Amino acid sequence: MGGSEIRALFAVLNRPETISLAGGAPWLGALPPDRVADYVASVLATDSARALQYGPAQGLPELRESLAGAMALEGIEADPRHLLVTDGAQQALELLAKVFVDPGDVVLAEAPTYVGAIQAFRSHQADVRGLAMDDEGLRVEALEEALAALGAEGRRAKFLYLVPTFQNPSGLTLAADRREQVLELCARHDLLVIEDNPYAMVRFEGEPVQALSAIAPDQVIYLGTLSKVFSPGMRIGWIWAPELVLRRLELMKEAANLCSSSFTQLVADAYLRSGHSQSDLDLIRKVYRERRDAMIDSVAQHFPAEAVLRPPEGGLFCWAELPAPMDTKSMLPRALEAGVAYVPGTAFFPEPARGRAYMRLNFSYPSPEAIEEGVRRLGVVVHEEMELGRGLGLS
Ligand code: PMP
Repeated sequence: MGGSEIRALFAVLNRPETISLAGGAPWLGALPPDRVADYVASVLATDSARALQYGPAQGLPELRESLAGAMALEGIEADPRHLLVTDGAQQALELLAKVFVDPGDVVLAEAPTYVGAIQAFRSHQADVRGLAMDDEGLRVEALEEALAALGAEGRRAKFLYLVPTFQNPSGLTLAADRREQVLELCARHDLLVIEDNPYAMVRFEGEPVQALSAIAPDQVIYLGTLSKVFSPGMRIGWIWAPELVLRRLELMKEAANLCSSSFTQLVADAYLRSGHSQSDLDLIRKVYRERRDAMIDSVAQHFPAEAVLRPPEGGLFCWAELPAPMDTKSMLPRALEAGVAYVPGTAFFPEPARGRAYMRLNFSYPSPEAIEEGVRRLGVVVHEEMELGRGLGLS
């Protein structure tokens, strides 16, 4: 396993003078600690014996019911008996890799894709192959070509991993017609799809697109998390999978950590049943939209005109593409010196070299003022790098 570039960033991120556009942390301002204290108090008052005890490996039944309720809001009809509670969606990725991946197995994914998924799959020695995207998400031809190439090698992929809505890192969303085409192609090749869906509820603009799991429930394993809509500190995620797969995942879950925390499961359930989650989400959406706008305006003002940034309609990230021969990885130390951090695109590609022109910029956590100042600092460095490149005759 190689070291994660994001982890390497943490050391400098603690410097107070650094503005971090590198993280993936949600804004927690919609959730006053007093209100969380009320949920905790009610759990301890009514259910302390269960809250402080081990629980079933599959997760507590009332929480699974609430999570199925959250999925219903996205048009997915999930039976709570087919849900497994995990320690965040990250553990779901690890458990899926454990169940499905043998060393050398091919896993297909968008390129770029979520760095934690690459890590989870590679920790089981998967051969992760990245498929090209454009403004409308995964390119169907790229999937077609990859499947044909695998067929020619006499091999099959274990699954296709997708973050189809407001993807981390690109912010891109797979277009509605492509969703049908991708599912149809996967059905033809008998290829399982994993839909990782932390961000769909964080839409602040445009019309919702149907989840893959709503279109073709028999073909898709769904991953959910409360990290972006409640609290990542609670570590509550879940998997919705067919019975047969679920039982294997449950065994792996038991082997990994017996069960997720009964305490945070009950607190999360109290939150979901409190009736606050919709109004909290409305506030989160409003704040993210303002922050996204601050980022777009600042990039327009401070970055070179050649830089491309596609405004996402939801999620936590903007994805900026800089003109060649820019290398965002080698530029990072200079940006850190200038007091701003980002994640270089190389972190998100199975073949890192493909990511050199890109950077992921987070807008959920920093204030609009910090975004403006961070992007200004970054703009200075980008301009200098471009000058340097020109001076060397590289462009
Ligand atoms: N999947 C994706 C696409 C993510 O962006 C993240 C977190 N940034 C996760 C999974 C894991 O989140 P968590 O473990 O907090 O649920």
